[in-house]
Amino acid sequence: MARKTPSDAVPTPAPPNLDFRAPGDDAWYEVRLAVEEDVEGEAALRVMYCNFSGALDELYPADRFASLRELEEFAGRFRPSSVQLQDEECGMVVEGTEFCASHTFGDRDVRFYDAVVESVRRSKHRSVNGEAICNCTFVVIWKHGPLAGERTPINVQDICIMEQKWLQNPTLDHFLDIARNRLNGNDKTGKQAERYSLRPMFREKNHYAFWIDNLEKDLSPITMNDFIYGQTSLSSQLELSYGVLPVTSCSGMVHLRTEKDAKKLLDFLLDPAHIVVSSRGR
Ligand SMILES: [Zn+2]
Repeated sequence: MARKTPSDAVPTPAPPNLDFRAPGDDAWYEVRLAVEEDVEGEAALRVMYCNFSGALDELYPADRFASLRELEEFAGRFRPSSVQLQDEECGMVVEGTEFCASHTFGDRDVRFYDAVVESVRRSKHRSVNGEAICNCTFVVIWKHGPLAGERTPINVQDICIMEQKWLQNPTLDHFLDIARNRLNGNDKTGKQAERYSLRPMFREKNHYAFWIDNLEKDLSPITMNDFIYGQTSLSSQLELSYGVLPVTSCSGMVHLRTEKDAKKLLDFLLDPAHIVVSSRGR
């Protein structure tokens, strides 16, 4: 599978395993998937186009689907990767065969769409170094994309055969489960309960640290350090962390020099007598 701007391609570290019909141009691309969570625990599916720069990655948040039908439509855009038809396999392509075929727009803009064979013109195969070279021509009708309904003659090298067996993809299944649970009002992630809590303290080399969630996204670490010092006389360092998705808040890791200081600050923040609210009410 190819994409329109292949120049800044990067090698893919893992074998690609799915094709994705991109909503942008309706063409099929080979992709890898990952489920990511932002700092608020909202999940999104990262679609990474194989052999293309990460700048072309797409993120699909789990909460973007308005209905189960919309989610199923999205799920239907994935299927196992097609494989290039070999010259000696051309006999398996007959009238009515459906496959994924490439069409080159302009000089080198190669895109893949599904097509069905209308007619076949067989030619004698040549032999080059003992290998059969197919000279047959297949007239296809395109099923979707910009050429939908049009007829084009193509050759064996333009044809990819679709994998008939659907192999489970745990990453996609996991994401679809999350999105389905949201739609069913059955969000099991428990992030709402976690959102206002502090995560356990841990030791890092020569200091102690813990995470604070639900901070204003434009909070400056200096402001936070000053606030902590003003309230507790403790010197701390705050390191902010942002997720990959647009968010309304962020998390921060607070570092303190000693365990005693860290405990003192935790006691202060966890004390129900102190409710720490930002000027905007967060
Ligand atoms: Zn042939």
